[in-house]
Amino acid sequence: MIGFSTKAIHGGISEDATTGAVSVPIFRSSTFKQNAPAHPIGNFEYARSGNPTRLAVEKLIADLEEGLAGFAFASGLAGISAVFATFKAGDHIVMTDDVYGGTFRALDKVFTKFGLTYTLVDLSDLTAISSALTENTVAIYAETPSNPLLKIIDIAGISEIAEAHQLLTIVDNTFATPYLQKPLTLGADLVVHSGTKYLGGHSDVVSGFVVAKTQELADDVQFNQNALGGVLGPDDSWLVQRGIKTLALRMARHTESAAVIADFLAASDKVAKVYYPGLSSHKGHEIAARQMSGFGGMMSFELADGTNAAAFVQSLRYFTLAESLGGVESLIEVPALMTHASIPADLRAASGIADGLIRLSVGIEDLDDLLADLKEAFEKI
Ligand SMILES: *Cc1c(COP(=O)(O)O)cnc(C)c1O
Repeated sequence: MIGFSTKAIHGGISEDATTGAVSVPIFRSSTFKQNAPAHPIGNFEYARSGNPTRLAVEKLIADLEEGLAGFAFASGLAGISAVFATFKAGDHIVMTDDVYGGTFRALDKVFTKFGLTYTLVDLSDLTAISSALTENTVAIYAETPSNPLLKIIDIAGISEIAEAHQLLTIVDNTFATPYLQKPLTLGADLVVHSGTKYLGGHSDVVSGFVVAKTQELADDVQFNQNALGGVLGPDDSWLVQRGIKTLALRMARHTESAAVIADFLAASDKVAKVYYPGLSSHKGHEIAARQMSGFGGMMSFELADGTNAAAFVQSLRYFTLAESLGGVESLIEVPALMTHASIPADLRAASGIADGLIRLSVGIEDLDDLLADLKEAFEKI
């Protein structure tokens, strides 16, 4: 089997067979010529249903996640919505309690209108799952490491429970990427991604992916991709494919720098708590060490004086105050005020997201500059 970096560059469709172009061309054509009615010249008819540039990145993400088929969407939420839309009224989903805010909003504010129901559970505690299951439960939805508390969910553990009850296991692999973790090989059925984050990697494209393990699931997702239409355009497909070519290099650097920064924060008397799965003090450290090949570039922390979060995040030079994550540049944010503001305050508090929690996305700048930036900001508070 070839290595991950080789696969990221040569996997999927990596060149153009007709011209020899080593970068897949951007096919902007919205429609494709047919020889006779219903007999297209190639494999494409209309670009919502299929586009060669999109297909290249779809095959690539399927290869990297070791799935059967991949599907590219206009955003992570478009992909996640296409998965939710495979269910029917009355179906019940067990979902991790500190799920990405937008995923919660889609389920809670949109899909419940069409009869889906859900229960939020701390999936890092496997024993909590069984009491949440009902006779209508169809799926367990996990996000690991989770956002923003970096909770670790035992993918093999929940997949085993799901299989015993004939439920699907869906894993949001945005934080880890297939470079660090491959949920389908651990028993999951579907992987979802915000490609906006590490896959694209340069904060210049919004995208989403779904990877299916079986033909039946692939057919369901493909049907919804075409029927609901939230597809990724050819230019954006090309950008994500280009991003993925350096995914391995970037993830290795993000991970290396994050480990040092997590140690630095943990040792600082200005910091009350650090959430990073690479720290041996982290509750999910052992499971993370088992199911991930590295601990990634995301972490969050609380200041010793929790009221200073807003001032702190404004006093950094290289950590840009912004939502999103996973780009080459370091980002910082306050989840309660920004990415997770759409989760009601009581639910946020119940799942441990303090108002003063600060989330870091460690970029690939020189580590010394990042450390100096943090040190300076600490001195100011
Ligand atoms: C950003 C994000 C999403 C949503 O993706 P979009 O591309 O913004 O629609 C879903 N899950 C996680 C973990 C995310 O970070």
